[in-house]
Amino acid sequence: MKQTLAEIISIGDEILYGQTLDTNSHWISGALDQIGIKVIRKSTVPDIEAEILTSFQEAEKRADVILITGGLGPTKDDLTKPLLAKYFGVDLVMNQDALNDIEQLFTKANRKMTDLNRMQAELPANCDKITNQLGTAPGMWFKERGKIFVSMPGVPYEMKRMMTDFIIPRLQKELVNYHVVHQMIMTIGIPESSLAEKIRDWEEALPKHLKLAYLPTKNTVKLRITASGPDRDVLKKDIHEQVDKLKPLIEKYVFGFDEGNIEYFIGKMLKEANKTVACAESCTGGFLSHLITSIPGSSAYFKGAVIAYSNEVKHNMLNVDTETLEKHGAVSEEVVIQMAKNVREKLNADVGLSISGVAGPDGGTEEKPVGLIWFGYSDKEKTIAKKYNFSKDRILNIEFGARKALDLLRINLSEK
Ligand code: ATP
Repeated sequence: MKQTLAEIISIGDEILYGQTLDTNSHWISGALDQIGIKVIRKSTVPDIEAEILTSFQEAEKRADVILITGGLGPTKDDLTKPLLAKYFGVDLVMNQDALNDIEQLFTKANRKMTDLNRMQAELPANCDKITNQLGTAPGMWFKERGKIFVSMPGVPYEMKRMMTDFIIPRLQKELVNYHVVHQMIMTIGIPESSLAEKIRDWEEALPKHLKLAYLPTKNTVKLRITASGPDRDVLKKDIHEQVDKLKPLIEKYVFGFDEGNIEYFIGKMLKEANKTVACAESCTGGFLSHLITSIPGSSAYFKGAVIAYSNEVKHNMLNVDTETLEKHGAVSEEVVIQMAKNVREKLNADVGLSISGVAGPDGGTEEKPVGLIWFGYSDKEKTIAKKYNFSKDRILNIEFGARKALDLLRINLSEK
């Protein structure tokens, strides 16, 4: 069985000038993926007749469904409708149904219709009108030479409403049933290349209808398994079997099986374990606490934080010994141990997390280079410290450092 292929054409000079971001094709791709239609190309073309006609011809050769947005307004530069008529060799004719829709909109808004608005109800003779609930430009559905062409307005909310109400259901009805199922496996603490190394044999043995993608962002790597075929339940079962085989190979790096970041999963873990956390942050300046509190409901498990940027604050607010600070320096195992333990006790939390490092770009030494960060973890049974070397970039060090601290929390919570 062949999967339905689609192309998306965005029409408009404003997109090519960089004035409008093409969010339409991004949204349409996601919507088509949900119903098992594979987008094979997206293109943006200017408001130029020859370019638009060429884009129709080329897309028709490659795809089964061609979705077009933009260029449907009432003004001269809106070329899509007359060009679709020209492309299919038909005339524009007044569509009474479309005219009624437009008249209704104007009556509702208590506005007077112009001739230009009336002309918007003239549609190519071979199309089915698609009602635009939110604007004056009707959408159009063509079925010609075994291909489906759909034309929609460029205004994102008008396009989305048409897709949801009419186009997606009709595509599902008219096209052969074909499904695409995705499964995410979220990992942290292992670079993409090492991950690929660890799972190479498993990946090579994947059945042909299952595809694997590596999607790295910040310190996480998302693995996406995609299965496609006629039976959704079979696909789900096939994916499940493969995930079961994959799990033992990378268990300690996996933090979730849904789309979601590490702070979200940490929140879930803390809630399930009924534990609270407090942070003592130096070089991350509050970014760790920001990540934790960016999750709705974090008040259930986040006690608070001390941003102990200076040694004075480390000593005054967190009781870190002055001698320890002087002897070992702020970026040291001894200091993060005291920070983690003391913030836990002072803020009456189950777990204390601490971070102290050299974010850069200045302040590095041979012994403590830019990018060196010490982390502390403390609960009622143990207090430990770990160090990692990150990059020379200040912002990356802050972001990676904060997420590493969350990973440390994840590892220690899952040991329990
Ligand atoms: P209408 O007749 O309803 O105004 P239209 O089909 O003529 O719609 P355009 O004139 O091309 O649409 O664009 C209308 C608005 O929609 C523009 O202001 C533009 O910012 C936005 N728009 C157009 N295309 C896109 C796109 N691909 N992604 C996001 N926004 C878009």
